[in-house]
Amino acid sequence: MSLSFDLVPGTHRTSPEKLVEILRDPGFVKYFSDHQAVATWTADAGWQDSKIENYGNFDIMPGTAVLHYSQEVFEGLKAYRHDDGSLWFFRPEMNARRMIQSCRRLDLPSLPEEDFLTSVYALMTVDKDWVPNGDGEKSYYMRPFIFANEQFLGVRSAARATYAVIGGPAAPYLSDGMTPVDIWVTTTYSRAGDGGTGAAKCGGNYASALAAQREGAEHGCSQVLFTDAASHEWVEELGGMNFFAVTADSALITPPTAGTILEGVTRDAILTLAPSLGLTPDVRPISLSELFAGIVEGDIVEAFACGTAAVVSAIGKLLHQTDGEVEVMPLTSPVGEVTRAIRTALLDIQWGRAADPYGWMHKITD
Ligand SMILES: *Cc1c(COP(=O)(O)O)cnc(C)c1O
Repeated sequence: MSLSFDLVPGTHRTSPEKLVEILRDPGFVKYFSDHQAVATWTADAGWQDSKIENYGNFDIMPGTAVLHYSQEVFEGLKAYRHDDGSLWFFRPEMNARRMIQSCRRLDLPSLPEEDFLTSVYALMTVDKDWVPNGDGEKSYYMRPFIFANEQFLGVRSAARATYAVIGGPAAPYLSDGMTPVDIWVTTTYSRAGDGGTGAAKCGGNYASALAAQREGAEHGCSQVLFTDAASHEWVEELGGMNFFAVTADSALITPPTAGTILEGVTRDAILTLAPSLGLTPDVRPISLSELFAGIVEGDIVEAFACGTAAVVSAIGKLLHQTDGEVEVMPLTSPVGEVTRAIRTALLDIQWGRAADPYGWMHKITD
């Protein structure tokens, strides 16, 4: 039976005056909107107790499994306010399906696609006033997640789990996307290995990427590019974004996901859009030696990272440490034409400024 996510009576709301102030400068979800969607799963009864309630504390005891063993998965998607005031999701069914895959890998109960969609539409309808207008590419970022919510210190899959959706207004995650970011290429840390959890969107992957991120930050880099765990020769992806390189002859190279790279919705959209922009998508393994030589010789002219939060983020330089020395590889065209064209094409669809031939946009409210 499918779940309904109805608003519980008597919730309170932020005053319109305060909301105007928040929406003016929201940061990246510095403020959470008034409500959350929640549901509980038990091994005996399945999913139940689904509702929309005020954003607020969970009742979690210190012995709760997720705090010890990280049995948790999450999603990230955005709602966009078009010029006519209507609200839209971008491919929310992709997030629903990916969350099911992530749950399988973490042995969590998965939430059916239909229930996921009901919950995100319900929350967004209740908190619609929290969606900023699109000025400065502001949107509403939504975070569905499922975690093991059972007090138990033995290692086994939880017999009780909580699903929740929270969110809030968000300016772009990394600057405006066209101010190039510098990337630290790590060949010491790994985020994923064969048979591991790299293709699942789970909190543990992010935790294991933080030390590398700190190392990058010490070298002035805001993000890390990971390589394959076995040989550290093949480019994989960033901690939370997929990677693309652009060649001088207009090919768009990104590695195949192959179980160790997360299947980004943005990555998929870019590969789909590429031909209409005169670009040739080229999904194939790319080695660090090819990437570095290509940058030096001018065969690779641009590179960018992509994901829902940051959309498309131009890469200025790659930094890589070999034998204690840091090599700096600047892209010829850091704020390149191709990166800009892809970014614009994607944003134009998301904000309803261009036709949506792929049926990616789904209306939430008028
Ligand atoms: C979420 C995520 C991405 C980007 O996926 P989108 O669906 O485009 O937001 C890429 N890599 C990792 C590791 C991620 O967690």
